[in-house]
Amino acid sequence: MLKGRNAIITGSTSGIGLGIARGLAEAGVNVMINGFGKPEDIEKERAGLESQFGVKAIYSAADMTKPEEIAGMVADCEAKLGSVDILVNNAGIQLVSPIDEFPIAKFDQIVAINMVSNFHAIRAALPGMKKRNWGRIINVASAHGLVASPYKSAYVAAKHGVVGMTKTVALEVAETHITCNAICPGFVRTPLVEAQIADQARVNNMPEDRVVREIILASQPSKRFVEVEHIAALAVFLASDAALSITGTAVSIDGGWTAR
Ligand code: NAD
Repeated sequence: MLKGRNAIITGSTSGIGLGIARGLAEAGVNVMINGFGKPEDIEKERAGLESQFGVKAIYSAADMTKPEEIAGMVADCEAKLGSVDILVNNAGIQLVSPIDEFPIAKFDQIVAINMVSNFHAIRAALPGMKKRNWGRIINVASAHGLVASPYKSAYVAAKHGVVGMTKTVALEVAETHITCNAICPGFVRTPLVEAQIADQARVNNMPEDRVVREIILASQPSKRFVEVEHIAALAVFLASDAALSITGTAVSIDGGWTAR
């Protein structure tokens, strides 16, 4: 169904973004991957997507804190793959710190990467989607786009912003065949969460195994981490034609976290 479509997945050199890139490629979508990492690792991933799934895979080194690089990424994808049919805004970082000690530059960086980059990418990709009257915008928000936790002021503010922007974009294009949705995962054991476990251990003065049990998975009633592959499958469904009427929503995939 998605064969021949073209997608950008930001922050796809690791974790959830990499999983979504693989899921879309498996569904026949040509992908532009993005994010930081060792050039040889990124090239291995890119070439692997092509050989494993028989799609085109290209890479953009765009930095999601730089508006002109984000616009350049979209233009590059349109030039090399022909269009951006599916835009997955996934790049994100985190810092756990009390607000009165929160480093100012870090706050700005988290908001820039986790929220403002979505605006720049959507702004650049939407005209092409409108021209073709087909598009899927998927913003990877978080359970923290719906509820808060202490010590995550920048992340929670940014992710709530992403959910708000998702609703606004959906309304602006509601009469077209373009949808815009947010995916709100609970905890997934990616490098981002590994770093958080270490941060929480420091802030709370606790060993890491206790942090996982008593802080991280305490908010997740399933007591399991969410699997990257399950998030990828949700993204593939949201990108499908069958999901046309799903727009402006924040889809939770959080083991029951936000049901409380
Ligand atoms: P990760 O650290 O494994 O991956 C983050 C990706 O973003 C990497 O590819 C990294 O290179 C890229 N990135 C970071 N800064 C960038 C920049 N300035 N420009 C371009 N790319 C940049 O993290 P993850 O856990 O896979 O997180 C992916 C998304 O999922 C984030 O938006 C995160 O907030 C969200 N999320 C994660 C969890 C979780 O538990 N892991 C839960 C909910 C939401």
